[in-house]
Amino acid sequence: MKKKLISIFVFLCAIIPAFGEILAEGKTKIVRPYPEDPTLAIFESKDDITAFNGLKHDAFQGKGEFANQTTCNVFRLLADCGIPLAFRKQLDSHHFLGEMCQMIPYEVVVRREAHGSYLTRHPSIEKETVFPKLVVEFFLKTRNLEGMGVPIPRHDPLFQLTDSGGELFLPETPIEGQKPYLILSDFPLKDRPALFEEIALMAKQTFLILEKAWQLENARLVDFKVEFGINSSGKLVLADVIDNDCWRVVQNGQYIDKQIFRDGGAIDKVAELYKYVTAATGRFTLPCNQLILWRESESDHVLK
Ligand code: 5GP
Repeated sequence: MKKKLISIFVFLCAIIPAFGEILAEGKTKIVRPYPEDPTLAIFESKDDITAFNGLKHDAFQGKGEFANQTTCNVFRLLADCGIPLAFRKQLDSHHFLGEMCQMIPYEVVVRREAHGSYLTRHPSIEKETVFPKLVVEFFLKTRNLEGMGVPIPRHDPLFQLTDSGGELFLPETPIEGQKPYLILSDFPLKDRPALFEEIALMAKQTFLILEKAWQLENARLVDFKVEFGINSSGKLVLADVIDNDCWRVVQNGQYIDKQIFRDGGAIDKVAELYKYVTAATGRFTLPCNQLILWRESESDHVLK
């Protein structure tokens, strides 16, 4: 009965957006309270697709469903691998249940190959150059800093923690010779610098798991963006979503992710790829490998 009431609530939230109180709404998702437990929330994926900080916008039928299903497929695999997650469980085609977190306002990017903005910061490096050691970058989400008197000439800058403070760099300008355009004396996690290391480690572990999952699908995960939060128990968890908007995946020499949309691909083609990726991530499972140890018997050592 309880379960039924919750499904009715979720269904009503989906069909009547004004029905449930909205805790937060972004370009591609809506967060609503979970009536059963205030430490949890319902996350809904929308049919919108955006690029270039919202300057390019479109929508297609199925996007919300593909995004929700892909995120749930990915988080189920990560949960099986022991990554601490805000994700709890899939509710239905457009919703999942997750922990309410205090979000840490950094976009954490992990790269196996040089693509996208990395190429503009490092123009001497060829596209698809492989990094044997994963590259981790932090981009500060500056939108929430507006109104705090902090001048932000360019949003979501590359962030580097140094002895002088939090250095901000233009993300689409060569990094060599670039001086930070701003050095923040106060920035998120300033009082908990060890968390930067912890986040970088967890982001790399997550990348390695998904890189292997994509290899089994004959595709290359070349980079991704993840976000972290602190849950109500004070624990660091991987939060937000990981869907086809958040990574670059190459198969047969083609991107099969949002890059096609950024590059001006037809929306039908984009929709087809999102559907394909939803099915592929549905096959992500933890392989049941066995480690078998043979012990020599004592008599093997006796020379006759
Ligand atoms: P780049 O910095 O090369 O543009 O992006 C690196 C990776 O992060 C890519 O996989 C890209 O899809 C992802 N990414 C960068 N910015 C965003 C963003 O604002 N939202 C999402 N969902 N992913 C992003």
